[in-house]
Amino acid sequence: MVRVRRETVVGILLTSLPLLAAAAAASLFFPGSGERLVTLFMINVIAVLGIGIYAGNSGIVSFGHVGFMAIGAYASGLLTINPIVQKTALPHLPAWLASIDLPFLPALAVALVVVALVAVLIGIPVARLAGSSASIATLGFLVIVHVVLVASTDITRGSQTFFGIPRAVNLWVALPFAVAAIAIARLYRDSSAGLKLRASREDEIASTAVGVNVKLHRFIGWVLGAILAGAAGALLAHFLGAFSPKDFYFNLTFVLLAMLILGGVTTVSGAVGGTAVIMLIVELLRKLEGGVDLGFGTLPTVFGLTDIGIGVAILVVMYRLQDGLFGVRELDERFGWLKRASKPSVSSDNAPKITPVPAGGTLKVENLGKKFAGLVALENASFEIKPGLVTGLIGPNGAGKSTLINSVSGVVPPSSGRVLIDGRDIASLPVHAVPVAGLARTFQNIRLFKNLTVLENVTVAASALKGNGEDPMESARLVLAEVGLDGFSDQLAGTLSYGAQRRLEIARALALKPRYLLLDEPAAGMNPAETQELMHVLDRIRTKYRLGLLVVEHDLKLIMRLCDIVVVLNKGQQIAIGTPAEIQANPDVIEAYIGRRRSAGHAKREAVEAGGLQPGASGLTNPA
Ligand code: ADP
Ligand code: MG
Repeated sequence: MVRVRRETVVGILLTSLPLLAAAAAASLFFPGSGERLVTLFMINVIAVLGIGIYAGNSGIVSFGHVGFMAIGAYASGLLTINPIVQKTALPHLPAWLASIDLPFLPALAVALVVVALVAVLIGIPVARLAGSSASIATLGFLVIVHVVLVASTDITRGSQTFFGIPRAVNLWVALPFAVAAIAIARLYRDSSAGLKLRASREDEIASTAVGVNVKLHRFIGWVLGAILAGAAGALLAHFLGAFSPKDFYFNLTFVLLAMLILGGVTTVSGAVGGTAVIMLIVELLRKLEGGVDLGFGTLPTVFGLTDIGIGVAILVVMYRLQDGLFGVRELDERFGWLKRASKPSVSSDNAPKITPVPAGGTLKVENLGKKFAGLVALENASFEIKPGLVTGLIGPNGAGKSTLINSVSGVVPPSSGRVLIDGRDIASLPVHAVPVAGLARTFQNIRLFKNLTVLENVTVAASALKGNGEDPMESARLVLAEVGLDGFSDQLAGTLSYGAQRRLEIARALALKPRYLLLDEPAAGMNPAETQELMHVLDRIRTKYRLGLLVVEHDLKLIMRLCDIVVVLNKGQQIAIGTPAEIQANPDVIEAYIGRRRSAGHAKREAVEAGGLQPGASGLTNPA
């Protein structure tokens, strides 16, 4: 059921190579201090990947994962501590805990279960938060863990050193764990869950509109990341043999975050690379910090040079490279030759049907209204969208068209009225379930996942449909062919031309196999050739898949040609509904458009003559 792609495996091998090389070099040339350093590097890589799984994919900085490292360290330490040391160092340990004396690996396993349980408990509230409120919550968690560790003197020796832990970890123990961490992080990143979380990082609203349950995926990333961090903490405990609570606090958090940010938060390669670079900087500066004898004189001792050095390195890198040293793509994703040659695209003619022809059914909008703090943006909108027909939605700027689409799709909860799909009220559904119920949309201001590839953008949507037995990535390829974007699959969405971005947004919506598709100004900002091309695509989709389309569009010539039914909004009110011919003859519509334009004055007249019945300035800015 879980398909592991070749690219993922290549990526894991490629990212693990530097670790293998470092381990080999250290043991051959620098046994002792070099091995020690490389072992720490391995452990740091695991910790940084743990933070990165949550922070990198969700876009929420986490200060809390070092708290999980501490829990992992103390838990596995307590389970393995030398019984003789335990008697003297921890005389008040509860009897049941004192009687446990496990070897390293079973202790690690139990410690990870403890970490996972705490992560689940904390993750439930944290996953509901976004942005800086989530970050602050993770900081609060770190502080709580620290305070509890210091206060639990009977179990942890408080702020004193906790010692007597068997040193079970060396370079060759740490290495397989680090490689496993790389594999877990990369498999997660490339999985449907990881892709969804990355999509939510790029644009939370757009991700829910393609069926992503953002809270669920933040939660999964949080717990998985915590387990990796917990493992890093336990390994560190068994590498050092002794530690105290302050070893798992702000200093370590700062250094690990620096590694992640410097390398690039969103990639596994970035986590590994950033860890290596920061560790080299720290090693170098630590030598300088203690004063260096240059032969002819001595450099003075500079207190805090290491931290300053890390800070400066981050500033310099961020100034030059916002996405960190390794950017937003994995190493293997940058090199075309590492990929399987792209398959010849499926032409739109032999592409399998995206949607089974629905037997009847309608999307019914009933008395829909929306108020924003007293402002009535929409009132009493009532109409139907029928499969196979195009409904046009027109009205001057500020008329409430986007508000209508937002309310129907649940992005903005309506203040009144109902939306029914085949008689079922979709208001009771969570927003991310609306697309799966058959309703997809695009946004007036394009909302793509800019740092994901074109193919990934569409794959996110395709993977919202579970249990249809299709590979989401293959479905995504078919949809891209449908809108003529199959040649751009591996490009980042943000680098596409404007017209192509609009088409990609439509492709992403189509990948949900919707029965109803709401397009908010799909041709806005397009040149005439791009508009023409878009209309062909829309026309083909509509007839081929019997989609019910709702299109907001300013070019009335276009609306009149494309639409079967036209709904007219003005100042939040639905002022007319009918065939294009009826609408063109409707005095209220003419009043709303042309009447206003006359009063708007001379400046707009040319535009009117050029474009026919084109709407003018917004009702809000209209001086009349
Ligand atoms: P249209 O898409 O027809 O140009 P909109 O639906 O975007 O119009 O806006 C309708 C009215 O609702 C406008 O007066 C706009 O300022 C207001 N509005 C839209 N979204 C919000 C919001 N999130 N908060 C407050 N007012 C809003
Ligand atoms: Mg709008």
